[in-house]
Amino acid sequence: QQSGEHQVVAKRRTQLLEITREVQEAVDGTDAAAALVFVPHTTAGVTINEHADPAVARDFERALERLVGEGWGWEHIEAGEENAPAHIRAALMGPQVVVPVEGGRLALGTWQGIFFCELDGPRDRTVLVTPLS
Ligand code: ZN
Repeated sequence: QQSGEHQVVAKRRTQLLEITREVQEAVDGTDAAAALVFVPHTTAGVTINEHADPAVARDFERALERLVGEGWGWEHIEAGEENAPAHIRAALMGPQVVVPVEGGRLALGTWQGIFFCELDGPRDRTVLVTPLS
């Protein structure tokens, strides 16, 4: 099956953006048994967590910024700014998730949504969704 590319526009430095609908659309009309969602970036990631209360995504953003602090004497600098925290926060979230598909629908739990995790925004980003047979 072909991978589909999806564009994500992040407006803040750290921002979780729900992409569940885009992932569902990528498997619509396929015979996929699962969807592979992959983020081809080193300062962004993807995770599955609660989407019922949008406060959870905002709390993730705060937690990631506190777990890996700015000003820790990082060595990796980009455009004059410490950029290592963005890489390490991305590693904490990971670059991919796989979601089973049952009866044509993503088999997510009631409270689960798929979130793109921007960690070095604002930026335009790409997410790859591959239906797996
Ligand atoms: Zn960097």
